[in-house]
Amino acid sequence: MNVLVLNAGSSTLKFELIRTSPELIAADQDERLCRGTIEGIGGEARASVEKSGQAKNSESVPLADVTAALEYIATWLSANGFAEVNAVGHRVVHGGELFSQSALIDDGVLDGIRACADLAPLHNPKNLEGIVASSKRYPGVPQAAVFDTAFHQTLPEHAFLYAVPYDWYSRHRVRRYGFHGTSHRYVAHRYRAVRKLAREQTNIITLHLGNGCSMAAIKAGRSIDTSMGMTPLEGLMMGTRSGDLDPGILSVVASRENMPLEQVENALNFKSGLLGISGLSNDMRELQKQAEHGNGGRAALAIEIFCYRARKYLGAYLAAMGGADAIVFTGGIGENSAPIRARICEGFGWAGVALDRAANAQVRATEARISTPESKLSAYVIPTDEELLIARDTVRLILGIQHPS
Ligand code: ADP
Repeated sequence: MNVLVLNAGSSTLKFELIRTSPELIAADQDERLCRGTIEGIGGEARASVEKSGQAKNSESVPLADVTAALEYIATWLSANGFAEVNAVGHRVVHGGELFSQSALIDDGVLDGIRACADLAPLHNPKNLEGIVASSKRYPGVPQAAVFDTAFHQTLPEHAFLYAVPYDWYSRHRVRRYGFHGTSHRYVAHRYRAVRKLAREQTNIITLHLGNGCSMAAIKAGRSIDTSMGMTPLEGLMMGTRSGDLDPGILSVVASRENMPLEQVENALNFKSGLLGISGLSNDMRELQKQAEHGNGGRAALAIEIFCYRARKYLGAYLAAMGGADAIVFTGGIGENSAPIRARICEGFGWAGVALDRAANAQVRATEARISTPESKLSAYVIPTDEELLIARDTVRLILGIQHPS
């Protein structure tokens, strides 16, 4: 079955076409046929597409909205031998408390995604636009929604509630939801496949370090805590997001800078994190380069804060879980940056982490153990693949195959 995976963002539409089936899933032989990204939707957009194993092609093209962008993708697919689309899987950011699993899209599910839109006003409406556009472009083709929040619906109350007046939760659903769930779930799945473990034997801490960053404490295969909260702003330091901060800061900055609260929040989302501290970039590669050459004083500081915060969360989750078997790095930084992995693992000797420095230095975007065989708490790199999990969930839902997430 060819599953078109769609991820509709604020002005972007990403796609990947994946051939999969229960047999291909069991053999881990799903085929990635092609993929692409359209950026700058709403004006002169930039479309980049590539067939698996071939060079990327890019062009500028005016695309007014998601419908036009999807039409561009569908036309390209047909012209390149991929006319057959048997199902569509959508990444949906927020499923609130309504969705603890992926779902086949019907009117009830659409209503549910709409009901969660106030929790993710920048994302859910765009995800919905993608769903509406694809159900028009591919009428009669089954569609599924895979939620970023679903994997973390197993968080216990003591982990998901904020210590604020309880009726903020009962009246406004103010609680921690967590994000990157598809990534944490995929990485946990791969870890237990590599280690040949049952789900209940999976006790790991997953670190998704990309432009957005989050950590999950996974005990007996279930997420019991995660660092992002009601919105993706909470938790670790990220590319442009602040992560944890004292909420008292908001009113101080708003009044002293004479800024509306939305503008302060905007700065916490888009002008903070690595970019905010370094004053240079949100790109870890760039900061590492600057720090190495000794001319990026605050680049080095930004990296130090990034790693320090990650170590604090790691320590907290080891305590929350009563110890773990492994820590697993993923995401653009986690998969590619040996120095960052080493700095985060530093100081965890007391917890039994013995990093294999040579192995760590070599690993880039491949599945590998980066701790020594004797290490009591192992460390792994496992590249994430959210698109693959979305495609697999879509097929399983269509065929009615029960799958323990
Ligand atoms: P997103 O959260 O947008 O999906 P990614 O997971 O692609 O982001 O991660 C993007 C981040 O990964 C950027 O900060 C980039 O600098 C970083 N990154 C990619 N490759 C490397 C590398 N070799 N060394 C350090 N950082 C890297």
